[in-house]
Amino acid sequence: MPSKRDDGAPRPRVLILGGGFAGVGAAQKLKDADAEVVLVDKHDYHTFQPLLYQLATGLLEETAVGHSLRDLLHDQENTTVHQDVVSAIDLGAREVRFEQLAPLSYDFLVLGMGAEVNFFGTEGAAEHAFPMYTLSDAMRLKDHVLERWEAADRDPSLVEDGALNIVVVGGGPTGVETAGALAELYRADFARDYRGISAEQSRIVLVEAGPEIFSMFKPNLREYAQKALEKRTVELMTGVAVGSVAPTRVTLKTGDVLNAHTLVWGAGLQGNLLVQSLGLELERGNRIGVGPELNPPDHPEVFAVGDIAAITDQKTGQVLPQLGSVALQSGHHAGETIARRLASKKTKPFAYKDKGTMATIGRGAAVVQMLGGKTMKGFKAQVAWGTVHLALLPTNEDRAKAVVDWAGEGFTHQRVGRISVQTDERAPA
Ligand SMILES: Cc1cc2nc3c(=O)[nH]c(=O)nc-3n(C[C@H](O)[C@H](O)[C@H](O)COP(=O)(O)OP(=O)(O)OC[C@H]3O[C@@H](n4cnc5c(N)ncnc54)[C@H](O)[C@@H]3O)c2cc1C
Repeated sequence: MPSKRDDGAPRPRVLILGGGFAGVGAAQKLKDADAEVVLVDKHDYHTFQPLLYQLATGLLEETAVGHSLRDLLHDQENTTVHQDVVSAIDLGAREVRFEQLAPLSYDFLVLGMGAEVNFFGTEGAAEHAFPMYTLSDAMRLKDHVLERWEAADRDPSLVEDGALNIVVVGGGPTGVETAGALAELYRADFARDYRGISAEQSRIVLVEAGPEIFSMFKPNLREYAQKALEKRTVELMTGVAVGSVAPTRVTLKTGDVLNAHTLVWGAGLQGNLLVQSLGLELERGNRIGVGPELNPPDHPEVFAVGDIAAITDQKTGQVLPQLGSVALQSGHHAGETIARRLASKKTKPFAYKDKGTMATIGRGAAVVQMLGGKTMKGFKAQVAWGTVHLALLPTNEDRAKAVVDWAGEGFTHQRVGRISVQTDERAPA
């Protein structure tokens, strides 16, 4: 669709920053709008974060977790995609600047740049921890774990130094899912493949500063998750915080030192740091507070959606959690609202449809808590988790690929992504 109308007047520009669930959701709802839609993301792919831990443990390949943004939107004639980093946003001048692209003005702006890891100032964490937020984080963790096992295979003395031990920080879904998946990788796959190393010589320790893991779930689900982790040999340490991180040692605030060459950080998020320069009042966790139509105060032309926004649920009065379904639904709502405004139609406030809170712990072990308080656990809950997450995947092709990989692993324990490719390896001269 040309950027000008038949009468020569320019089409209004909708600028979408971020190609996560929220940004892509907004773009999809603008497919038929009489507008020029521009989506900019620093990556050329959309990341499906809920499955990052499966990439990190070799259960899925990178193309099942990252999907080309251009491919996702290539059927939308009115939409252009650019890969670049947003460097500044001037809400007063209605202009966005980028690292390389020329500045872009807008008629409507959708802020969907997500959140960033928050190390809460923990010494050494930024340098040595492995966060789990991006596709490259997950691949870096996978490569590092594979590399440590190969190193220990060549030099068994490394095992005593903690080369195979992993400390996972955070007893929320990210930490629990990652610890459970790593334990299964260790006990089901590596135990068979590295015959010289006995499974007991490697530890996976989950550290949570609060009194319990899964604090967002009901007590019966918390207890179930704890038992399911312990069955998988994950050691739980609750009520303990990490004080500092070094390449091979983790020091707890109690002064205890754990020998571990790997620390996975799944403990905290904050809204994208760019929001601090917008001149808006921010809510807890560096998030942009928005009204019922997802606009920050005094900016009806700006929409903040997904993890970057603090969206209050109209039904409960609570701020909605940073979840894929909240991001997708709020992105859809922003796109629809803009399309309706462009067509001079009435708009309505955002109403979140809660599909339940859920998390997996390992094969056949998951928990689901529905809005009305009903709970599910075990295999049934894992099927529910799979169904909801397959629906969030961006294309049918991705869904089919995930089902095949999950089924394959379920029957054979084989992991399709269990190799480490060194991209800096040189060809022989
Ligand atoms: C490990 C993990 C597991 C999770 N598990 C679940 C789960 O099981 N179920 C669930 O519902 N939710 C889960 N979530 C949460 C869910 O993934 C997020 O709520 C969701 O991805 C938020 O979507 P978003 O579009 O707001 O942000 P994101 O998905 O983070 O997308 C933001 C986009 O903005 C881009 N961007 C950022 N900064 C810039 C910049 N300066 N310039 C250009 N582009 C930029 C990024 O590249 C990214 O593509 C999980 C999250 C993580 C990290």
